[in-house]
Amino acid sequence: MARIGVFICHCGHNIASVVDVEKVTEFAKTLPGVVFASHNMYSCSEEGLGSIRDSIEENKLDRIVVAACTPRTHEPLFRRNCERAGVNKYLFEFVNIREHCSWIHAKEPEDATRKAMNLVAMGVAKAALLEPQTEGESNVVPVALVIGGGISGLAAASALVSQGIETHLVEKEASLGGILRDIEVIGPEMTESKKLIEELKRSIECSPKAHIHLSSRVTGLTGFIGNFEATISSEKCDEKVKVGAIIVATGGREFIPKGEYGYGSLPGVITQLELEKMLAKKEFPEKTVFIQCVGSRQPGRDFCSRMCCNTSIKNAIRIKEAKPDARVSVLHRDIMSYGTLAERVYMEAAEKGVRFMRYSLERIPMIKKKDSGLSVEVYDETLDEVIQLDADNVVLATPMVPIDDVKDVAMLLKVPVDKYGFFLEAHVKLRPVEFATEGVFICGTARWPSQVSECIAQGLAAAAKASVPIREGKVVIEPITAFSDSEKCIACGNCVIACPYEAIEIVEIDSKKQAKVNEAQCKGCGNCVAACHNDAMQQKGFGTRQLGAMIDALIKNALEVSE
Ligand code: SF4
Ligand code: SF4
Ligand code: SF4
Repeated sequence: MARIGVFICHCGHNIASVVDVEKVTEFAKTLPGVVFASHNMYSCSEEGLGSIRDSIEENKLDRIVVAACTPRTHEPLFRRNCERAGVNKYLFEFVNIREHCSWIHAKEPEDATRKAMNLVAMGVAKAALLEPQTEGESNVVPVALVIGGGISGLAAASALVSQGIETHLVEKEASLGGILRDIEVIGPEMTESKKLIEELKRSIECSPKAHIHLSSRVTGLTGFIGNFEATISSEKCDEKVKVGAIIVATGGREFIPKGEYGYGSLPGVITQLELEKMLAKKEFPEKTVFIQCVGSRQPGRDFCSRMCCNTSIKNAIRIKEAKPDARVSVLHRDIMSYGTLAERVYMEAAEKGVRFMRYSLERIPMIKKKDSGLSVEVYDETLDEVIQLDADNVVLATPMVPIDDVKDVAMLLKVPVDKYGFFLEAHVKLRPVEFATEGVFICGTARWPSQVSECIAQGLAAAAKASVPIREGKVVIEPITAFSDSEKCIACGNCVIACPYEAIEIVEIDSKKQAKVNEAQCKGCGNCVAACHNDAMQQKGFGTRQLGAMIDALIKNALEVSE
């Protein structure tokens, strides 16, 4: 008979101000198999964890239920704590009475308490049937793949080869550097981009560990963390490479504002990158008007690209420095010069005579062609005045948008994109630069429009994370995986279709066709179990008996409460 211990957490006031934790604790003591129950102010504190370990030892507990917050953040901590107390960490069950009770039912404390009791009863019923599990291990191919040779990809590849890690760098263009090849100076630091790219390129090209694939694309990918096989295709050939980790650094592109503000029809209306090319040729206009937020922060594309304001300010300063008498105006809807350096450079631009005027989306600037050049009419919100500006060039500051084939790349890698088409990392706070798919990492503008310094930082972060499994040489395989009962399986293939991680195949064993799960690839999502009509597919830790016991406990408890 299992000896179950239940620990209810107050989470300070987070839980205890709504849920009656004393009542839940007393109720837990009445549940079958429970030999100990207590409540604690902060279960995850060193003191809280220590008291759980002491209780395990004193009461010889062999199943542990913690009713607290979310397993997403805290399950690993409590599992480790069980291990420290000598209990297999898979004999632990987590019940969420914070997000699922006190937070969501904050105004109904009695209902929240009743729900917490139901959830604890279900957790205890499942815990009684838990079985110890053993983690497996899988070897890791000590090679990395970086997709994209822009600034983030270069930073990542450079960091990997400097650690002695063999790295394939795949770039679809004929040369490395990405969008920075068209930019002479990087703001707000005013760094020479050519110098930066050359330094990174040299560090990669000089390394015997680097394999650079130019004019190439990744066209196929199979496998799982530690053991991927990628197909790298160029005009000449298809090459298959085995890699342990992948970094996606496919970048973004400048939004082309076709038809907006006369772009494409009025000569002199240009994009920021077109201005960059002019400035690189030392062509500095006498009269320049920048219009910010063209194609962004408006319905349909409501995000702020974050780097366009700094780019306009940088280019305005460059024009003023080359031609102090030049007239430069920046028409904006808010200046996003975040960070102390960017703010200082913004002030510097104003001191150099760059004029900043705020317009609104309801009354956008109007551009007309004149006999020579352009005229811009803008309603300045601050002055409450309509102002006429002459311009040789009107520069449209447009956002960075995802690359055109982002959906193909996402399908290939089986990773998600957000509603704008940028890649979606696993969790912005808990798992930055990681995808939910283990072994695949993300950095730079492919993730979200970023300054160059941020792209470099993310490239380094992704390289650091990707190097962990490669340097350790092995990865732990989660034991909470699916398995098929060969007696019941009729090889219908439903589970194969349902598995989003391609972890199942139909194989022939002893002349019988049946489903087989690759445990290293399985993420324990349970889709296949739901898809199997024959009860053949099961998942460790979530077996039919365990789930059935939880439902029984809920019904029994709910009936008793309503009586
Ligand atoms: Fe709060 Fe979770 Fe820590 Fe308890 S274990 S104190 S619920 S964060
Ligand atoms: Fe695939 Fe999920 Fe089933 Fe594992 S549990 S085999 S990942 S469907
Ligand atoms: Fe076998 Fe069930 Fe998969 Fe069909 S769905 S192949 S019966 S495990």
